[in-house]
Amino acid sequence: MRSETIKRAGLAEIYEKIEAGERLSREDGLKLFQTRDLLALGWLARRVRERLHGRRVYYVLNRHLNYTNICENRCRFCAYWRPPGDPEGYVISPEEAVRRLSEGPPPREIHIVGGVHPELPYTYYLELLSAVHEAFPQAALKAFTCVEIDHLSRISGKSVEEVLQDLKAAGLSCLPGGGAEVFSERVRERLFPRKISAERWLEIAKTAHRLGLPTNATMLYGHLETLEERVDHLLRLREVQDETGGFLCFVPLPFLPEKTPLREEIKPTTGFEDLRTLAVARLLLDNIPHLKAYWVFLGVKLAQLALHFGADDLHGTVVEERISEASGGREAEALSREELERLIREAGFEPVERDAFYRPV
Ligand code: SF4
Repeated sequence: MRSETIKRAGLAEIYEKIEAGERLSREDGLKLFQTRDLLALGWLARRVRERLHGRRVYYVLNRHLNYTNICENRCRFCAYWRPPGDPEGYVISPEEAVRRLSEGPPPREIHIVGGVHPELPYTYYLELLSAVHEAFPQAALKAFTCVEIDHLSRISGKSVEEVLQDLKAAGLSCLPGGGAEVFSERVRERLFPRKISAERWLEIAKTAHRLGLPTNATMLYGHLETLEERVDHLLRLREVQDETGGFLCFVPLPFLPEKTPLREEIKPTTGFEDLRTLAVARLLLDNIPHLKAYWVFLGVKLAQLALHFGADDLHGTVVEERISEASGGREAEALSREELERLIREAGFEPVERDAFYRPV
């Protein structure tokens, strides 16, 4: 891209910083969010992405397991939860989890998250992990958000560190990084007041990192948050990453309002919004190695385009995932290895099958 184009987009100074390998500031982050020149922004993000990963795009043979939709947190943005006793509520037993995961090719990564169930005992979570770990010893168990870890600490009376040690002994390899939403007290009060605070989420992530459990980090965007709050969220993650180095991947999640009580007031994000959020994240998060184009929320076609806007990870095969399905956001149930590779190759990149820790397999 000609430097004239970058200049016209008002991004010349940021371009120079990127070329010099300098860290971008809060003001730079806002400026990037405010530009209308999506192609110039995407070009900058792709430059950084190529510096980090060349033409490689990662994917994993994975499975999702959402063990319960019963939840006491009642977040306003969530279409997935059901109250205890609801006829649509469910809990998957450890045996049933193993049975479901046994269908299809053996996964390399199993992603396990669920609602904050008020009655499931602490032992359920340990038994669930042990059963899945025993049945699939080759798979890394990526389980429980910081919100669930906080809940487990409360119901067991153990510290976060003790809970994580117990889960690790039962087979836990890493944490998926959900439940962060957006680190804004203002938004938390309006949309998810019962959920843990930003400080608690970050503290739990740091504890996991200290114990050798890497995590991802997410951001739910496209609801009530301002661009300043988005930038702040990214910078808080960057600060923790400077301290621990434990975040493997950043996963931006567009809010899917369709089946939530907010559908009248909030419109779904647009492709422009999704791509610019990915690109700005790639540029601000200079210390988090990977950026995920989560096709489950973005849709397959936009996720493929996102590879040109900073993303280097197309997630995986997925198969059974109930959370986005409940939100009306799914266009595909699952993708095969062949489909993922085709999407990556067609976009001009080289597919690399990975394990949960981004090691090529
Ligand atoms: S987002 Fe998570 S914690 Fe909030 S209601 Fe939904 S399942 Fe429960």
